[in-house]
Amino acid sequence: MTRPLTVITGGTRGIGAATARRLARDGHDLVLGYAGDDTAAKTTRKHVEEAGATCRTVKADVTDPDQVDALFDAAAEAGTLTGLVNNAGATLHIGPMVDTPTDVIQRVIDVNLTAAVYCARRALRDLAANDGGTIVNVSSSAATLGAPGEYVHYAAAKAGVDALTQGLAVEAAPYGVRVNAVAPGIVRTGIHEAAGEPGRMERVAPHVPLGRVGEPEEVAEAIVWLLGDACPYATGAVLRVAGGR
Ligand code: NAP
Repeated sequence: MTRPLTVITGGTRGIGAATARRLARDGHDLVLGYAGDDTAAKTTRKHVEEAGATCRTVKADVTDPDQVDALFDAAAEAGTLTGLVNNAGATLHIGPMVDTPTDVIQRVIDVNLTAAVYCARRALRDLAANDGGTIVNVSSSAATLGAPGEYVHYAAAKAGVDALTQGLAVEAAPYGVRVNAVAPGIVRTGIHEAAGEPGRMERVAPHVPLGRVGEPEEVAEAIVWLLGDACPYATGAVLRVAGGR
């Protein structure tokens, strides 16, 4: 039987890497996109290969449609695409929106929304030309909370990802392609330190009803469930994995 082949954008660190490790254990071959951290890419590739999967890592900035094509072309060389985890994202800066520099706002919207649209478009073209498949977008609980005082523009971009999920699910259905999203709450990854607040998890955890931050593996579980065949009637869904927040 042919093994599933999944592209994960931002598949080399955090939630994407946890998803890659889990999918490798489940028998997927993987193509992992990343922006620049070669060391993380090498480490995650090693973990995935140790689990018995083939793995390509592709440095491709997904805000650039030509680099998105290069990522999916690499996947086409590796086999027949069956799924996309549309996960690459960044917050970059924490603070009130009025104090946020223009270039940061532009980049955050490009990485979290525009890039997700480019990747979903290319994935749908490829999946429709094959036998169908599944796209899972990684949104955020910020899409409905608005992230006031932290990154309102990021929240707006993630609300766009939710709309992308709903609309594309309808367009993709005739091609046998399901489109869903997972909306994590605060999760233990490097995204917080990269935005300039390494202590964000300790600050926010007491406000989460479950009283703690989430682990990347807990979000990966939801992504893998939506990506697979366990619930083939689910499309256009946004599954919140946010400890009740
Ligand atoms: P992370 O640990 O910072 O990892 C981000 C990954 O995305 C890395 O592999 C990074 O590549 C890649 N990436 C970033 N910008 C890219 C670009 N322009 N092109 C290609 N790849 C790019 O982040 P994370 O916390 O796992 O976040 C994963 C997703 O979950 C994001 O969409 C994020 O918005 C969402 N999310 C996270 C949280 C949270 O609390 N962690 C909460 C809600 C939603 P390099 O390693 O090369 O930089």
